[in-house]
Amino acid sequence: MTLPAESETVLALFKDSEALLHGHFKLTSGKHSEWYFEKIRLIERPAALEKIVDLLVDKIRREVPDFDYVVSPAYGAIAIGFLAALKLGKKFAFTQRADERMTIRSGFSGLDGSSAVIVEDILTTGGSIQEVLACLREHQVPVAGIYVLVDRSAGAVPIEGQAVGSLLALKVAAYEPDVCPLCAKGIPLTKPGASDKKV
Ligand SMILES: [Zn+2]
Repeated sequence: MTLPAESETVLALFKDSEALLHGHFKLTSGKHSEWYFEKIRLIERPAALEKIVDLLVDKIRREVPDFDYVVSPAYGAIAIGFLAALKLGKKFAFTQRADERMTIRSGFSGLDGSSAVIVEDILTTGGSIQEVLACLREHQVPVAGIYVLVDRSAGAVPIEGQAVGSLLALKVAAYEPDVCPLCAKGIPLTKPGASDKKV
């Protein structure tokens, strides 16, 4: 895998925080992968997360001159969005699902009519970001930018015509076990969530 120098720095930060594991993993789909993202580590290790968020904040500051709120979907991205908002000197709000619908958590008072940047942890299908966009549209909140730490689609997922800024674009290949090159090399298979145990 070849990555730009900036991505190498980000990759190293993720590896240091053990949020991104390199090896040979059995995914819940049954497929095998060389990379596994353990995103709970980001929340578990605030000091490591802060270094990653600093890079995201630099990017947002460069690219989005003016907005009022950082908005993140509950729960995993709350800590990330909150920390980004703190560093950017902006307000923060989060969305959550209520009866299957993404809504702005009740009690946030000033969001209607203001502008927002969406911050999410990992973009895979873009589903939750689309839900946040729909939710903000209902509240007449223009979205000035969408940012994720990791874009697992590597830019392949368009979200309502809006570009998604990411620190790391990493398209992760997943293999059926019978054609897995890692199996062919005899690399021991581990199961995420129990990455110290062979399966
Ligand atoms: Zn394999």
